[in-house]
Amino acid sequence: MARSVISKLDCAVIGGGPGGLVSALYLARFRRKVVLINDGKPRAAWIPKSHNILGQERGISGDLLLKRLRRQITALHVPVIKGQARIDPVTTGFSVSVNRIPSFIARTVILATGIEDNQPAIENLVELREKGLLRYCSICDAYEFRDQEVAVIAADDTGIQKALFIRHWTERTRLIIPEDFLISTERSNQLKKARIRITRCNHFRLQASKAPHGLWIHPEHGPSRFCRVAYVELGSRVRDSAFAHLKGLHRSTEGYLVTSIEQRLSIPGLFAVGDCVNLLGQISVAAGQAAVAATEIHNDLLDWG
Ligand SMILES: Cc1cc2nc3c(=O)[nH]c(=O)nc-3n(C[C@H](O)[C@H](O)[C@H](O)COP(=O)(O)OP(=O)(O)OC[C@H]3O[C@@H](n4cnc5c(N)ncnc54)[C@H](O)[C@@H]3O)c2cc1C
Repeated sequence: MARSVISKLDCAVIGGGPGGLVSALYLARFRRKVVLINDGKPRAAWIPKSHNILGQERGISGDLLLKRLRRQITALHVPVIKGQARIDPVTTGFSVSVNRIPSFIARTVILATGIEDNQPAIENLVELREKGLLRYCSICDAYEFRDQEVAVIAADDTGIQKALFIRHWTERTRLIIPEDFLISTERSNQLKKARIRITRCNHFRLQASKAPHGLWIHPEHGPSRFCRVAYVELGSRVRDSAFAHLKGLHRSTEGYLVTSIEQRLSIPGLFAVGDCVNLLGQISVAAGQAAVAATEIHNDLLDWG
């Protein structure tokens, strides 16, 4: 069904994860006309229980945190629209389409579209993620597995660096890496010094285990290995369906959006927050950037002549 075009929305927020929700919260409390558009599942929804969120001493699941944030903005009457957004610059700001239907004209836009993790080619991926046996953020939860058996599934040097990073929490770290990946002499020496064990394999199966609680790794050749959890360190890509087509948008070689310290992008009126701009993918970072971007927008739109 065609949506009527609303002119002069102060801001369209694209993305319903922590970055987008906190942006909308601030803008609504600045009495700005704002909508939030979200498509799909925020990365934050995959968090089984986070122990590094401000004031949550017993931890909180990603789902519950998102639910609470959604309640906070709904109470402020922010419309939450389900669908895939795409933006195009126009003279008065941006035309925002939802599911290809031109829906809003917004004076400013905050992109909070997040990233998508590259996944190992295994059949039971969703089951293992839901059971918390596959992990994606060592800064967030490696502390919970300190001194335990931890595997790191890597494909390249970035993954090896992650294994060295994780080794700080546990001496029992194992690197799973393709047979033909050439490890540099420098890295090889670092891995030896850190006493990280290496399993070379191109294909493996992963199997949940109740007792002992954890995960069995079955390589196509060689012995099976047990670990409490495995970190997936296969890289990620920025979710860019809203803006991939825009000309003049500065992005890093990895595809991240390049912002100023006020979260401004290279196109005036456009801002970005959260995982899509930042290698330190953390909720507190996304929330802080959202507060900065929303306040910048509010100040930009103040019109006292
Ligand atoms: C398993 C796991 C555990 C983690 N644990 C922690 C933790 O303990 N502590 C911590 O601080 N961080 C943790 N993180 C990281 C945290 O989840 C991210 O830093 C956070 O979700 C980033 O928020 P965001 O709003 O930038 O992106 P997201 O939460 O990914 O939300 C982005 C949203 O934008 C939507 N979107 C994208 N493109 C469009 C479009 N064109 N139109 C409409 N919507 C669109 C996406 O579908 C998605 O819903 C964890 C991550 C994972 C995967």
